[in-house]
Amino acid sequence: MHLSKIKEITERLSPLFSPIEATVLINAERVLNAFTKLGVRESDFHGTSGYGYDDAGRAKLEAVYAHLFGAEQALVRSSILTGTHAITLVLFGLLRPGDTLLSITGAPYDTLHGVIGIRPQTGSLQDWGVKYEQMEFLATGIDFADLGAKLAKDPSVRVVYLQRSRGYAERSPLSVAEIKQVVDLVRSITPQCYIVVDNCYGEFVETMEPTHVGVDVCAGSLLKNLGGGLAPTGGYIVGTSLALKAIEARYSAPGIGGEIGPNPEGHRLYFQGLFLAPKMVGEALKTSVATAYLFAEAGFSVFPSPEAPRHDLIQTIRLQDPEQVILFCQQIQAFSPVDSNVRPEPWAMPGYDAQVIMAAGGFIQGGSLELSADAPLRPPYDVFLQGGLYYESAMVTITRALDAMLMATK
Ligand SMILES: *Cc1c(COP(=O)(O)O)cnc(C)c1O
Repeated sequence: MHLSKIKEITERLSPLFSPIEATVLINAERVLNAFTKLGVRESDFHGTSGYGYDDAGRAKLEAVYAHLFGAEQALVRSSILTGTHAITLVLFGLLRPGDTLLSITGAPYDTLHGVIGIRPQTGSLQDWGVKYEQMEFLATGIDFADLGAKLAKDPSVRVVYLQRSRGYAERSPLSVAEIKQVVDLVRSITPQCYIVVDNCYGEFVETMEPTHVGVDVCAGSLLKNLGGGLAPTGGYIVGTSLALKAIEARYSAPGIGGEIGPNPEGHRLYFQGLFLAPKMVGEALKTSVATAYLFAEAGFSVFPSPEAPRHDLIQTIRLQDPEQVILFCQQIQAFSPVDSNVRPEPWAMPGYDAQVIMAAGGFIQGGSLELSADAPLRPPYDVFLQGGLYYESAMVTITRALDAMLMATK
């Protein structure tokens, strides 16, 4: 029953899958070009201990990342623990007391509220005397006139900050084309300020990254797109040498920078995950499109719609109440490959304002290129679904979860 349904919608959705497959093809070639141009070798997979000086594999991995992003330099480390940690290093590296951080895509992702000091927190940027301002992200996108006016009258703006994906917010993700418009405007007014992009969930969704259109720095998590479902942990930062020098001083210590940082387990899974990532991202995107289609057909409102062009992995489904949110996440978990016997419950997860429930029956703790669903327990009761290492398996989970939900609400 499930399988014939999956076969049927897969055929029906093939016109929507073909642009995704075209992107996978281009990104597969980009990755292969980077690996061959830089000469990735089996010996690059070996790890190092202690200080990690002269770690050739680490240097090669970072060179591959820089090349793929059209960036001058990269910092790709297992010791960058999460996306939040990567972005924190960027902000603390680039901002000084008296500077202003200007977010132009509304409130940043929840876990950054404590980092910035939007939610008071010891050690936040605000604690260090960094000011924060925010422009709301309109339904029509970025308010360019307002941005131009702000930059022209406030010379303290040191970092213009954009979040590519929608996170937990009710907004559209940014396309790389829109990011280019921001770069052009910001450069024409204040050439000296840094443009920083939270790139989480955006990598390989298009055939270019924000750094290809002139952004100074992009950062994100290896538990998402670029880890390819294999990287066991880690984060990355790519950008200009000028910016990376300041960020690396914060990563380890001033004067030492990125020269240290061992990876005792070795680098193979980081290379192999990156190699697979374009395909895994394509599978996740197809899963999102098909999920949107199935839930819309069942009468739920979904965002984006199945037909909409994709700029990140996230599929939102609007449910009716907290009970339905909990049921949905529990059903996804129940049909996942790992920990299917676990019943997720809402909890006060560190870094989030509302209680959050998460279904994460994957191989890597918190790995969200694997099929995962999460939701803050607050109106409008949207659940955020992302990942699915490969389409067929993810769709088995999703069709079963949908059926169980429809049965329960009958
Ligand atoms: C996941 C995510 C982050 C960082 O989250 P971590 O759990 O710290 O890796 C930041 N911004 C966005 C938009 C995200 O999706």
